[in-house]
Amino acid sequence: MKKNPKFETIAIKSTENSFENSRPVSTPIYLSSTYKRNNDASYNNDLIYSRSDNPNRNIIETAIAKLENGNYAFTFSSGMAAISAVFQTLKSGDHIILPDDCYYAVKKLMENILNRWNLSFDLVDMSNLESVKKAIKSNTALIWIETPSNPLLKISDIQEITKIAKTKNILCAVDNTWLTPVFQNPLQLGADFVMHSTTKYFGGHSDVLGGCVVVNDKILAEKIKDIQVLSGAVPAPFDCWLIGRGIQTLHLRITKQAKNASKLAKYLESHPKIEKVLYPGLKSHPQHTIAKKQQRNGFGAMISILIKGDEKETFTISTKLKYFTTATSLGGVESLIEHRKSVEGENSTTPINLLRISVGIEHIDDLIADWQQALSD
Ligand code: PLP
Repeated sequence: MKKNPKFETIAIKSTENSFENSRPVSTPIYLSSTYKRNNDASYNNDLIYSRSDNPNRNIIETAIAKLENGNYAFTFSSGMAAISAVFQTLKSGDHIILPDDCYYAVKKLMENILNRWNLSFDLVDMSNLESVKKAIKSNTALIWIETPSNPLLKISDIQEITKIAKTKNILCAVDNTWLTPVFQNPLQLGADFVMHSTTKYFGGHSDVLGGCVVVNDKILAEKIKDIQVLSGAVPAPFDCWLIGRGIQTLHLRITKQAKNASKLAKYLESHPKIEKVLYPGLKSHPQHTIAKKQQRNGFGAMISILIKGDEKETFTISTKLKYFTTATSLGGVESLIEHRKSVEGENSTTPINLLRISVGIEHIDDLIADWQQALSD
């Protein structure tokens, strides 16, 4: 090739990565969708194509597996994609037990989509072990646990439910989004799958969507990996990078958020305008002892409260708050508040006077003062 290459060719070759051996401290974002083969058609580092694997994804999958004390982690483009992946490991005709106040989109996924694959479900109060036992059918294949549940913050005893499940060869999955591995490791309590919406505390800044599934068992890992790669709901490299950055400060953020939540819950419980505070860290919470047993070092940073009043009064109070932004979602550094029933829609059984609070990292004195003024006449 003696001739000088033409403009178009120069444009391509001159912008090729020439920093392959650079050693940056902050992880670069690997946007490449495909990877160079060696002359013998082999690949370095098993990197072939970005749907199968990607360095940014690889970093967070390794990190999340370690943090959850699990053998394998697989990440997805949202928490719902991760949940779908777990359900896709089942076979047509299987039955699932769901918590009666599980994240509302899970129930919708079952009703609107997975019913076409002949998967059925029952909603059960999982804080009651007898109800769980009674709900088991001959075709029950999966018990889906959300603890604390969303939005009633009911606590399910993971160890006891997984014991019941094991005697019947039923798998157990735990949505650990609200507590994160900082406070709870469901695999150590007997669960087969741990799922996270990494959109929440892992990301931590309300700027990225993501999900993950963690397992110990090699066969389950192979199934989830197959679903991840073949269904293709994989996270983009930049999203993985953001979640990886979030992981670095996860412990600091959620520990501070949980401390704030605990103080705020105590304050709200003492206020005459509040009917009830649902927070597992309060002694008044019906499953406080179970929460203490299975959640290491903390009770999380989510609180639901019931206002003494109707829907209108509930809305009025929430809109008077200055440091709690009215928005759905949770787990970011900023405090959020939301009237859950209006998000969940017509069939929601959530009380009309319930407000769900995601407590952020602001100063607790300011957060309490804000509630003081919002609850004053
Ligand atoms: N699980 C829980 C407990 C959630 O709160 C959410 C979202 O709010 C999800 C799952 C779904 O996650 P995503 O919105 O990332 O799909």
